[in-house]
Amino acid sequence: MRHTGRIMNVLPSHLLPDTATLATNGSLSIGGVDLLEIAAEFGTPVFVYDESHLRARCAEAVDAFPGGVAYATKAFLCRAMAELAVESGMKLDVATGGEIHLALAAGARAERLVFHGNNKSSAEIAMAIDVGVGTMVVDSFDEIDRIEAIVRATKERPVRCLLRVTPGIEAHTHEYIRTGHDDSKFGFGFNSGQARAALERVRSSSEITFGGIHAHIGSLIFDVDAFEKEVEILAAFVLESGASELCIGGGLGVPYVAGETAPTISEWGAAVHAAATTAGIPDSVAITAEPGRSIVAGAAVTLYTVGTIKERADVPAYVAVDGGMHDNPRPALYGSDYEAFLPRAPFVHRERRARVVGMNCESSDVLVRDASIPNDTVVGDVLATPVTGAYGYAMASNFNRIPRPPVVFVRDGDVRLVLRRETYDDLLLLETSP
Ligand SMILES: *Cc1c(COP(=O)(O)O)cnc(C)c1O
Repeated sequence: MRHTGRIMNVLPSHLLPDTATLATNGSLSIGGVDLLEIAAEFGTPVFVYDESHLRARCAEAVDAFPGGVAYATKAFLCRAMAELAVESGMKLDVATGGEIHLALAAGARAERLVFHGNNKSSAEIAMAIDVGVGTMVVDSFDEIDRIEAIVRATKERPVRCLLRVTPGIEAHTHEYIRTGHDDSKFGFGFNSGQARAALERVRSSSEITFGGIHAHIGSLIFDVDAFEKEVEILAAFVLESGASELCIGGGLGVPYVAGETAPTISEWGAAVHAAATTAGIPDSVAITAEPGRSIVAGAAVTLYTVGTIKERADVPAYVAVDGGMHDNPRPALYGSDYEAFLPRAPFVHRERRARVVGMNCESSDVLVRDASIPNDTVVGDVLATPVTGAYGYAMASNFNRIPRPPVVFVRDGDVRLVLRRETYDDLLLLETSP
């Protein structure tokens, strides 16, 4: 997947957010704002999201899934993002009490929330029922017991539920983000007969209204085949269960590095609907989805400043920046790959091989293992990694007690600070001793 040819050493522009353009001074602008100005004003590291890109992907998803579509908030959640998704007509997929709290704080209506999780606590289920979450995706028999007990105790209305089914598909993706295979901690096994047993259980429940079937086969899937297979496997069960909804989950991949391509959200939707028709699922069954990564990943770039460069004989130089695994743990967690470029000269040949590392005190703290950067890269340069809108900030930590970076949204020449940079004093917020 990694290209070393001279031509491929130019950053492919499709990895940049939709509104990326060259400013007259040769540097890169997003949303009409020069990235170097953002770095100067807000400092580095900083996450820069192209708001038009986010809105375009949300609109595309709403069009692609007329039956309904939820934004999977775990990919990137803050108030501004939840508001944007809700304004675009998306529901919100949440999986914890914290995500429910944030979604409601952003003004989302509880009935537009879809509540996931393989181990929802009684407190979280009670919270969801109390605020009126629209749909719960039940994942275990223990959870069914808990929902029933809480509905009985609070004399609330029955809860609308989808059954999460594990269809037994080995999606071709990293094992940590594969979720549809038989040996998965998620859902009721389809091949083991658990899904049928759960259906009987839910149907005979007076505290649960059966809404339909849900499956999520994994993340970063680059081929619509896996989703077509999912629909094909589940079709008979959908029909016999009388489901009014089949949710196919999220998981559509996005290109991260040169040479990678992925289907668009529209192509994904078309393939899934065609597969449903072929499998005999009538139009009366709503086909729904819950994309996360494909909505937000390509919308953002992260800006860093190069602090030190260590030349090494015959191996790539260590180029250390002022961020690291605390703002983007994906390379350390999954061995994920990124590109790197200099916003001051984004499309020049990048002839120098480098390993872009962070400032955390451990060796897994790599941001780009095998980067190509321009020969004239120097200490003090702003260096950017594209396609960092998903599972970057969302998984950021305070490892090494480093304050988390700010997040800005750019649009039509304006910069909006949506999450400020953490301060050293923020790091003391949880301390109980004075
Ligand atoms: C993570 C997750 C998603 C979103 O996955 P992406 O790969 O970000 O699209 C959707 N549904 C469920 C149940 C998930 O766990």
